[in-house]
Amino acid sequence: MKCSQGENFSKGELQRFGNIELSPSAGILNYGQGLFEGLKAYRKHDGNILLFRPEENATRLKMGAERMCMPSPSVEQFVEAVKATVLANERWIPPPGKGSLYIRPLLMGSGAVLGLAPAPEYTFLIYVSPVGNYFKEGLAPINLVVETEMHRATPGGTGGVKTIGNYAAVLKAQSAAKAKGYSDVLYLDCVQKKYLEEVSSCNVFIVKGNLIVTPAIKGTILPGITRKSIIDVAISQGFEVEERQVSVDELLDADEVFCTGTAVVVSPVGSITHQGRRVTYGNDGVGLVSQQLYSALTSLQMGLSEDKMGWIVELK
Ligand code: PMP
Repeated sequence: MKCSQGENFSKGELQRFGNIELSPSAGILNYGQGLFEGLKAYRKHDGNILLFRPEENATRLKMGAERMCMPSPSVEQFVEAVKATVLANERWIPPPGKGSLYIRPLLMGSGAVLGLAPAPEYTFLIYVSPVGNYFKEGLAPINLVVETEMHRATPGGTGGVKTIGNYAAVLKAQSAAKAKGYSDVLYLDCVQKKYLEEVSSCNVFIVKGNLIVTPAIKGTILPGITRKSIIDVAISQGFEVEERQVSVDELLDADEVFCTGTAVVVSPVGSITHQGRRVTYGNDGVGLVSQQLYSALTSLQMGLSEDKMGWIVELK
């Protein structure tokens, strides 16, 4: 799908996967005018194909496009394009329980622009790839390190939208952490350097007794769709949930810690290392609350439990 600045996206078309052509002075290549989304399609045991809250991805893309001075497809155009792409790639969707089809919508300033300015033309495309279950043998805990020098987002910046530059900003800290054997990095706020933000590509929650707490969304944290869904699932299961500032001290004193995201769904944290001190959590790193919420969400997404929230879109 294409459109010029100030206009609406026209109806798109299906194309075979392949390289795309861009001017060397395309807005995305020079000034980072790019936004993406990520969602999954699951095959249900009756053969149907399920999407999880695709209109939420469409709405988040629209919000991000506004921040990045880009036009965006309407919510209806986005959802219809996702459905058409998934149906055209049905053969790539793994059988029930064996994984999912990862869907990557990408909006970019594809027009040429030399002086710093929003690009004159935009392209919206979607590509897909089959992915296995994140955890092949049940839930596996991840080990995080708290990053105290580098930050992924600053107040007033673009940390709250899913723009490509946010991911470039985390590569250095993430690679350094991985080289030391950690799974990923947990970022802190860049002003007081003591409140949790999020991990490179997922949101974070802490559990203390019946209370579940996650950092409030205030412009520097990506408003995860899994995060939002887990909050509702946890409340429906009788947990108390708070969205507010969470200090490192509170993190280190938690009973359990878990992360949420489209890729990881709910990922238990086995240990956190902060300034050389390592704290372990849960029952061998997989706490009961994390397990309970993981099962609730995955069974909903795979069509194994009743969709009481109305979050599932069936494609057939
Ligand atoms: N934070 C960041 C920085 C992410 O890239 C993602 C993945 N989209 C998330 C959080 C989780 O968001 P979601 O639950 O919508 O996948």
